[in-house]
Amino acid sequence: MYDQNQLHTSNLKQTKKYTESIIHRRHCLFCNRNKIFFSRSANCEEHSYVVIGKNIQVPCIGQKKCGALQEYHLLVTLTKSSEYARYICMDCYEKKGGHIYQRVGKGVQKDPNCDNKSHYQNDTKEALEAIRYWILDVTTSEKLIWQEKILAALVPVLSIVSQEKTIVQNNKIEIPFLFMILIILTLAKFNYNSSNKLNSKNLTPKHFFEFGEALANSIILAKNKLKIHKKTLESPISIEEYRTIFPSCLVQFYDGLLKTLYKAKKEIIDQQKKHREQQLKPINYEKITKQVTFFASIILNIAFKGWKIWLPRTMA
Ligand SMILES: [Zn+2]
Ligand SMILES: [Zn+2]
Ligand SMILES: [Zn+2]
Repeated sequence: MYDQNQLHTSNLKQTKKYTESIIHRRHCLFCNRNKIFFSRSANCEEHSYVVIGKNIQVPCIGQKKCGALQEYHLLVTLTKSSEYARYICMDCYEKKGGHIYQRVGKGVQKDPNCDNKSHYQNDTKEALEAIRYWILDVTTSEKLIWQEKILAALVPVLSIVSQEKTIVQNNKIEIPFLFMILIILTLAKFNYNSSNKLNSKNLTPKHFFEFGEALANSIILAKNKLKIHKKTLESPISIEEYRTIFPSCLVQFYDGLLKTLYKAKKEIIDQQKKHREQQLKPINYEKITKQVTFFASIILNIAFKGWKIWLPRTMA
């Protein structure tokens, strides 16, 4: 454990006695798990913030050098209050873009801690992405007033298109870090899960047409690479060899489609079998691979004129 005095300014340490140290059990804002938090009093005065009107506490050990959360205009301000505070656990602090402080010295020569450069370099794209998905979520919902509010607030942003040069030269832009955006979106009850970005709820039929277009273009782009293996595609020695040549975009597409369908089907079958106390059967991945190979072959046949792509006949 860290000496609290190393993580805070000397001023603060004198005002808080050791006996005031308190262990809290709190639900984490992000993962909602019940975790332990230490602080020297009801809250840490140096690392407590108000984010869009709500009190937020982050791990002190994440704030020694890392500036993932810091004051940002009126959106994030420091506070001395811990009333109704929401807490963020160490795991989530790191997962959402913050950096935990590592002790320097004793063999550690180069300071391994966050110098905030990585935030400037890497946060912007992901932060925009998170906001994009939040906007998409509102767009496909029935929240008309929110849609109007967002549109009205966003349109003035379009003026940067014509001012691009002057803005950068005249005043330095203060870039908000990802962590702050993720806290705000979570407080707005929007669950941005960066690992599951394509939410079918947010997609329209037009999106699927565009996926089709993108897939077609990727296959056309792969033609030159495929040409080298044309012979194998027309008369393969083994089905394994045949399969490895396929463009991965095509294989991944059918893999995702078929595996998801079979998994959903298995869940229903499993429930029925459990009910009848029968033995459960695993998913037949070999069958799925064969079917993926079959569909991919048909598409390649359509795509390239004059190529005699071999069609696997075994579908069972
Ligand atoms: Zn957490
Ligand atoms: Zn603190
Ligand atoms: Zn950091």
